[in-house]
Amino acid sequence: MYKKIYDKLSTWYVKNGRHSLPWRISNSAYEIYLSEIMLQQTQVKTVLERFYFPFLEKFPTLEALSMGSEDEVLKQWEGLGYYARARNLHKTAQLSISALPTSALELEKLPGIGKSTAHAVACFAFNEALPIMDANVKRILYRFFAIQKCSDKELWNYAYKLFDEQNAYDYNQAMMDIGSLICLHKKPLCEACPFESQCQGKDEPLLYPTKKIKKTKPVREKNILIQRTGKKLAIFQNRDKKLLHGLWGFEQFDSDFKEDDWDYMGEISHHYTHFHLKAKVYQLDTQNADLEFYTLCEVDERALSTADKKVLELFISKSDIL
Ligand code: SF4
Repeated sequence: MYKKIYDKLSTWYVKNGRHSLPWRISNSAYEIYLSEIMLQQTQVKTVLERFYFPFLEKFPTLEALSMGSEDEVLKQWEGLGYYARARNLHKTAQLSISALPTSALELEKLPGIGKSTAHAVACFAFNEALPIMDANVKRILYRFFAIQKCSDKELWNYAYKLFDEQNAYDYNQAMMDIGSLICLHKKPLCEACPFESQCQGKDEPLLYPTKKIKKTKPVREKNILIQRTGKKLAIFQNRDKKLLHGLWGFEQFDSDFKEDDWDYMGEISHHYTHFHLKAKVYQLDTQNADLEFYTLCEVDERALSTADKKVLELFISKSDIL
């Protein structure tokens, strides 16, 4: 039914595909798996320019990753966000030790590996013929079949319907490339698209899928206190299971709590997935024996959340710590 499309897709991919991406050149299941996890919520450019190679340098194999501490893994993940990905990566390495399972069914049982990631790793590393379903692929499917709304299960059925089983690797890679280069979110380039001849949504692609109404994110106002003794700072490891678990940072208080002896340093803001943080930053010289203080070098060895990094940068620029 889609033979002509498969031929066009194949020609398009040979000519335009992003063949030089390091995880496409690699035969290592670990490197492919790492790229899939990093790319779950982060763009290719960011992963490529800042995170993929340094992570592999620190943890070149699954075994090396399994032997690292969670602190070290989080430190290496610092700035990439969605830290549950790093913790699950670490857990998966510890469960698998030296080799990942080779089938999607087994991969899906590991922490942090959903159906699409399992299919991607199984296809790209172990040649299992299965379709994938990242955000780009979803957009193509919605438009190709002119679907405004459907359940995940129905969308998977569409994914299997369009899937070129005989040429699974190139088909999946091409789908990702078309999603990010051609079937663009706001301005799809239909005339250059290999799906154009049979795409049911090409006349009005922006109708598919129906746009979700974006909720306005709540603003959380906080006071953040940097406690110092001389050139050393008090930092704490976050034990909150929900957000930023395992990362280090400064103490936070509700915005209506502040002591008179705190010195105001300035403000930071940071966008999280579900809220915006607006925080006033204060410092306090203290000899509190209950706190553990760290030099700037020691602070730098630990994984700080991006918001806490902003706090630290503000503090460094406004204080005499250096
Ligand atoms: S023809 Fe247009 S809408 Fe259809 S898949 Fe291609 S770019 Fe997207």
